[in-house]
Amino acid sequence: MKPASSISRLGVEGAFDVLSRARALEAKGQKIIHLEIGEPDFPTPPHIVEAAKRALDEGYTHYGPTMGLPVLREAIAKQVTSTRAMALVDPSQVGITPGAKPALFFAMLATLEPGDEVLLPDPGFPIYASLARYLGAVPVPVPLVESRQFSFDLNFVEDHLTPRTKMLILNSPHNPTGGVIAEADIRELARLLIDRDIVVISDEIYRRISFEDEPPFSIASIPGMETKTIIIDGFSKSHAMTGWRLGYGIYPTWLTDAVSKLVVNSNSCTATFVQMAGLAAVEGPQTDCERMVAEFRKRRDAFVSLLTGIAGFNCTVPHGAFYAYPSVAGIGTNSKELEDALLTQAGVACLSGSAFGLQGSHHLRFSMANSLPNLQLAAHRISEWSKTSSVRS
Ligand code: PLP
Repeated sequence: MKPASSISRLGVEGAFDVLSRARALEAKGQKIIHLEIGEPDFPTPPHIVEAAKRALDEGYTHYGPTMGLPVLREAIAKQVTSTRAMALVDPSQVGITPGAKPALFFAMLATLEPGDEVLLPDPGFPIYASLARYLGAVPVPVPLVESRQFSFDLNFVEDHLTPRTKMLILNSPHNPTGGVIAEADIRELARLLIDRDIVVISDEIYRRISFEDEPPFSIASIPGMETKTIIIDGFSKSHAMTGWRLGYGIYPTWLTDAVSKLVVNSNSCTATFVQMAGLAAVEGPQTDCERMVAEFRKRRDAFVSLLTGIAGFNCTVPHGAFYAYPSVAGIGTNSKELEDALLTQAGVACLSGSAFGLQGSHHLRFSMANSLPNLQLAAHRISEWSKTSSVRS
């Protein structure tokens, strides 16, 4: 017996692989600093935890409506309308899911046909290409330009729009680079897409974690784009709620019935007491989240400058998310070997850029979801390692 052949087209996430190797080394007594996993190291704000406990006591322990509790869908519709300055989002367009990943999965499942071409960022969240391949679609990796905050190469996008192009995936702020795409670039992309039957997935899961004066610009704000854009968002990163599994998609009206059918056929609904916690996250105080973002900024400033001081490392300052993505081209080896050497020899767990696409083969991703002292210690270990390492050519 063997699994369906389609399963061989699915990829995995490198972070979980490195985590399990790091845990194995720890079991043998090695001290590892974990900078591989992309989840905030802060507790979920207490008022959100309390709301979940209250909801359990009040009996939110049964099935709920397929696309989510009306009260949460309404709150999210209102919030998305105001934060993206976009045409009024109707609560019926909001689909609540157990994390942002299922919203992404449903969006792609509901729109892609075999042979469709999907323009996606390279480097990028590996699940995009994995799902496209799984569905028989063709990923078309778009190289990001480091000198332009890891924005798309717009000429490449224009040159690769074909009659088979069905989707473009945007992710700003961006995993793994921390880049935030400038409004002018997003407007240019919209100009290229507005008259074409192309669906845009705008993965905005890191929207709240931005270090710029202006919030990241959403393509859904551009009149005419809201009918072809699916916004993916959730609470995992913004409210340190990765383990709760709570996310959502904002779907154009022509897609909501299709997504609803997919939910009926898979998870039925999202845990209702978790949704009530989500309501507290939307409507309650945001001070804990703001403190978290301020701390990420402090870590970014310190860690990026420490990395840049290490011979062979060169780190563009990320404007959002909580990742540092240095070029290690100066080390003279590929990033996968470097990931392995840093884990086993320096005791620092990070991810090779190649886990995010071909363009990442000379970069590393460090998650700054660890304390400032640990980040400083990690930079010190890497620096000491680089002085003695035989990996460097
Ligand atoms: N999109 C991006 C770009 C991510 O980095 C992640 C998680 O790492 C997700 C989506 C998935 O988020 P969730 O944990 O809410 O499913």
